Order: sequence, then C-alpha cells, then structure tokens
Amino acid sequence: MQKAPINWTNTLLFTLTPLFALTLVPYYGLSHGYDAYEWGVFILLMGFCGMSITAGYHRLWSHKAYKAHALIRFFFALGGACALQNDVLHWASDHRRHHAHVDNNDKDPYSAGRGFWFSHMGWILRDYESGKEDFSNVKDLQRDPIVRWQHRHYLTLVLLMNIALPALLGYLHGDIIATVLLGGLLRLVLSQHVTWLINSIAHMWGRQTYSDASSARDNPLLALVTYGEGYHNYHHTFQWDYRNGIKWWHYDPTKWFIRSCAFLGLASELKRCSPVVIESARLDMQYRHATEKYASLHNAEKWLQRLDTEYQQLKSSLQVWAQHQQSWYEAKSSELHEKWSHWERLQLRDSYREARYSLKLQRQRWHALLANFSSIAATSPA
Ligand SMILES: [Zn+2]
Ligand SMILES: [Zn+2]
Repeated sequence: MQKAPINWTNTLLFTLTPLFALTLVPYYGLSHGYDAYEWGVFILLMGFCGMSITAGYHRLWSHKAYKAHALIRFFFALGGACALQNDVLHWASDHRRHHAHVDNNDKDPYSAGRGFWFSHMGWILRDYESGKEDFSNVKDLQRDPIVRWQHRHYLTLVLLMNIALPALLGYLHGDIIATVLLGGLLRLVLSQHVTWLINSIAHMWGRQTYSDASSARDNPLLALVTYGEGYHNYHHTFQWDYRNGIKWWHYDPTKWFIRSCAFLGLASELKRCSPVVIESARLDMQYRHATEKYASLHNAEKWLQRLDTEYQQLKSSLQVWAQHQQSWYEAKSSELHEKWSHWERLQLRDSYREARYSLKLQRQRWHALLANFSSIAATSPA
C-alpha cells in the first residue's frame, strides 16, 4: 500500500526540536549552568501550556464541559500557541473526530489501533487521509471571536510565545540563551510529548473501569504528568464531564483549575455526570468481569445465579436511592419548600436515609462477593 506523503514542516519541526533539546540543553547546562529563575520560567511555561491544552483546547473547546470568560479563553489561546499544538480549530476538530470514531483506523486521526508510534506522534508526520482538515464538526467554535482571532494570527502567536516571550524573560534576567533553552526549547518538547502520551499510553495501559467499548484506559500514573488527563477511560465514557478524575483524591489539577475559575466567576455551567450513571457503568463492567471469572468454576451455575441476583438488587437499590435523593433535595430546597408540610418533609428525609443505608449494605455485599472469588476458586475442584 502506498504510504501517505511526508509532511516536511512537521517532520523537521518535531524531529529537530527534540534533537536540539537533547543536545543543546545539557551542553549549556554543563558549560554555563542554569539558575532557579530559569527553571522557574520553565515550570511556569510548562503549566501555562499544559493547562491551556487540557482545560482550554480539550475540556472547554473540544467538549464544551463548561463555559469560560473571555479573559480565560484569551489565556488558553496564547498558551495553546505556546504549546505549538496547532490552533484551537484544528485541535478540537481532530479531537472530536477521535471521540466519534475512536479506534477506527480510517477515521480516528490518532487511532491507537495503528500502534504506539502512530498514535503518539506518527500521525502528525505524514498527511494521512484520517487527519485531513475538515472543520464541519467545529462550526460552533468558529463563532467564538477568540478562536477566530487565534486561527488568523496563529503563526505570529507561535513565534511570539515560543521565542519572543522566553527571550524577553531572559533579557530581563540577564541570560537570554539559558531562558530560551529551558523556557522555550525544553518546555516545548516536553509539553508536546506529555500531551501525546494521552493518545498513545492512555489507550494502551491501564484499567477499563467504566467501559470497554474503546481502547481508552484509566491510568493514575499518567494523570501525574498530564495535569489529570490520565483517567482516560472515564473521559471517553463521559466526555462532557469537566472532570477526568472524579474522586477528590484523584490527581486532576485541570479540574481544580476549572473549579477555581468558577469560584472567581470566570467559569460557569460546569457539567458533571450523575453519580448513579457513573456507578451503574462501573457496576456493569464489574459484573461482566466477575461473570467471566465465575464461569470457570465447576459449580458455576450456582455462583452465576448469585452474582446476577446481587447485581440486579444493587442496580435497583441505586435507582431507588437516586429517586429518594432527588425528592429529599427538592423538599429541602428553599424555592420548593412550601410544597410540603413539615411531616411530609420528615418522611422524605427518612425514606432517603433508609435508601442510602440499604444501598450501603448492598454495596458491601457486592464487594464481598467480588472479593470472595479467589477463596472460592482455591477450594473449587477444576
Ligand atoms: Zn477528549
Ligand atoms: Zn482518547
């Protein structure tokens, strides 16, 4: 089969910059050294690029997971140009296609089905049919004046942010070369590869906690270097949620950044998936995995029956809890308060508490049943 033509601009850019970073950065470090200011610029610009891509290009523009003030969108437009990952329109258009046709080697621009190298950066180096420019899926973004402005002045912004800004910061400090090497070159190469890891590793290594409909995986280790984007199985299952790590202990600085913006009045309409839907998806995956495991036992039928009963009961407990929770919240809310008498409100509160307690017990039984498999398997004759 004929190979796609090489995109020389990208190929030169994305092979020469890492080459220079790997040679010039250590050479200058050994011969002149870097100080705290220069490392500070590096860290600041890493965060600026990273956050602009994850909170801006990704969660805001590609997925519309929340709304952001023009000031924040302007900040993301500059940071995205600094990250040199193309303009918002190209990035979001590719990314929406990635979600719509995930793992389809002909339509997903960075399909993991074509291997690690292709999904990581190979897709950028050649003009593949799957990566053809088509803005028909980003018409909504073309209405955003900041997106249009960034699209028009992309090249100027790239040069300003990648060369002029680090050079100016270096000039103010008295060492232009060192600041450009760390804040310009090294930062550029690292911030790009970090983003690309989400297209490669996050589709290969990790758990399929919520769905196995795509190759996307939850990988908490990857979240540490990708500003929280490592929870990629969750993200592909509930793509419009502004969070990727949904538990408070999940390392997701992008989520914290968005929430801080909302606190300051600079972001609004943060979308979250309902806990019942999330737990239901996770439960379905657990049930399927457990069914496969229990089916290997000699008395499988008995265990499969038990598994099915507990699964159905837990599902219905979840629904009941969600309904009661809804009624109790409505009764509590100040606007609807008058609709119920004091006695009715007490009843709603108690029904909600009972449903919550029953769900807690049901969950404990379910987890015990899942954990029990190894001990049953050990005593069960093959
Ligand atoms: Zn996405
Ligand atoms: Zn993905």
